[in-house]
Amino acid sequence: MAYYVATSGTGVKTLWCSTVKIARSPCCIEEGFELMAVPAGVKYAIIGAGIHGLSTAYHLALRLKETGRGSGKDILVIDKTSIAAGASGIACGVVRNNYYQPAMRELMAHSVAVWESDPKAYSYHPVGYMQISPEVMRAQVATIYEQQKAIGYESVFIEGASDSQAYMEGLFSDWQAKGITSVLHEKRGGYANNTASMYGLATKAEAEGVRIMTGIEVSGFEFASDGQAVTALITGKGRIACDYVVAGAGPWVAKIWKMLDLPATVAIKDGDGRMHTGVPMWKYWCLEEGTLGVDPNMHKTNDGQMPPVIHVDTDAPLYSDVDGTLITDKLWGLYYKPDFNFGGIQGGSSPYKVETPVDEVALDPYGPDSPDFIVGDDFIHTWCSMLAHCQKRFEGKIGQYKSHEKSGGLGCFTPDNFPVFDQFRGNVFVIADSNHGYKMIGVGKLVAEEITGRKSRLLEPFRFSRYAAGKLHPVSNSPFPWS
Ligand SMILES: Cc1cc2nc3c(=O)[nH]c(=O)nc-3n(C[C@H](O)[C@H](O)[C@H](O)COP(=O)(O)OP(=O)(O)OC[C@H]3O[C@@H](n4cnc5c(N)ncnc54)[C@H](O)[C@@H]3O)c2cc1C
Repeated sequence: MAYYVATSGTGVKTLWCSTVKIARSPCCIEEGFELMAVPAGVKYAIIGAGIHGLSTAYHLALRLKETGRGSGKDILVIDKTSIAAGASGIACGVVRNNYYQPAMRELMAHSVAVWESDPKAYSYHPVGYMQISPEVMRAQVATIYEQQKAIGYESVFIEGASDSQAYMEGLFSDWQAKGITSVLHEKRGGYANNTASMYGLATKAEAEGVRIMTGIEVSGFEFASDGQAVTALITGKGRIACDYVVAGAGPWVAKIWKMLDLPATVAIKDGDGRMHTGVPMWKYWCLEEGTLGVDPNMHKTNDGQMPPVIHVDTDAPLYSDVDGTLITDKLWGLYYKPDFNFGGIQGGSSPYKVETPVDEVALDPYGPDSPDFIVGDDFIHTWCSMLAHCQKRFEGKIGQYKSHEKSGGLGCFTPDNFPVFDQFRGNVFVIADSNHGYKMIGVGKLVAEEITGRKSRLLEPFRFSRYAAGKLHPVSNSPFPWS
């Protein structure tokens, strides 16, 4: 574990161990704590102690050792707040392969294998995942199933309204969602406990010698005399010289991008070969999630097992579970799972786009602490009505929604809503997952391989150059921007 002393504006010294405040007096230093000063220089500086920063740090430490180039001691992770302070610490934690884009599916299969490699440390629950869909999505989901078969990712595909209903009733006797004509049941995947998995990763990284320092914010970069490579991070705690930078800043990526002087807009070639210029590089969506405070055990399957994560999309009219009024007759979707960590049935529905200009979006305070980007009564009413639409056991339960616990948060999206994983300026790797990323624990492993000289075929479809080249990913009919 990394120890260091932070001094407040009023001069009070506090001893921290990673993110845990140990003492407000430095007396315990004399009792043998090995303090970590902010180093003047490091080989590898990683910005962000979320899923990508920590996974990259851990896997880079392993790669450096394996290739005889160094060790985790060459790596410093810094975070402006703490481990899991960003999107990774509030994610629902769903891990799935269900993507219409072949490149995303392959990348997710790789990531699921990483989750499966150490379920205990990653607090991973391999309960599986179900995509339950209406007719308008049937053909696309069928292709997902075919391609999952092709890459050896185990799943079952059921087609037709009555077979779908029978399959769902075989799992949950009270299944009643309407407008469903296909069910894709992924036998792998599931979910992980957000903060616990970040600490699991941090512990593994620190065991390899990686230093993690929190409460240090990067406010700029220093560039080489030719204006290209980054030579140092400018932080609130001083300058940190570095040979290589990995930016895993999650929703703050737009700020880091600007500090790196990368383009605010991009040109994109569409499927017809037409160029669209001036497309903003970043936009924000607000994710809406919450918890129904019932006993998580109430959502077990007919045979008493923990159920797969459920995702339903449907174009059946949605009526209020409170007063029977019509909420929507457009395509809608929700996801949910029993979660003992959240203490109930936790999940969410489609996000909404934030129309404020990117530079003006109030990112901090983030997540539940934000006064602007948390769910309100509309979400609670809609999501609880969606749950009741799907399963009788959730009817009349809205009163048990945990409205005292704030939830929801911002995600930063790219122009096509798919990740950009690429190196810029010759020595900066930007991991911008376009909010797909808690499940993508394996990306850090691939980034570590690239940094140490092994190009990744799986990362290739996510290069920045795809916009100008028109190498875009296919778009699905799902109501979610991330499917
Ligand atoms: C409500 C919600 C639910 C979600 N649910 C899921 C889900 O179920 N499954 C899924 O796969 N994905 C989910 N996502 C998306 C997923 O959480 C993110 O894509 C992923 O966690 C991003 O990881 P990251 O490491 O890039 O960023 P983060 O986890 O946000 O970490 C970035 C870190 O960088 C630090 N930082 C930022 N700027 C600086 C700076 N200048 N200097 C120093 N440190 C800095 C921050 O403090 C933060 O700790 C969800 C997102 C939200 C908001």
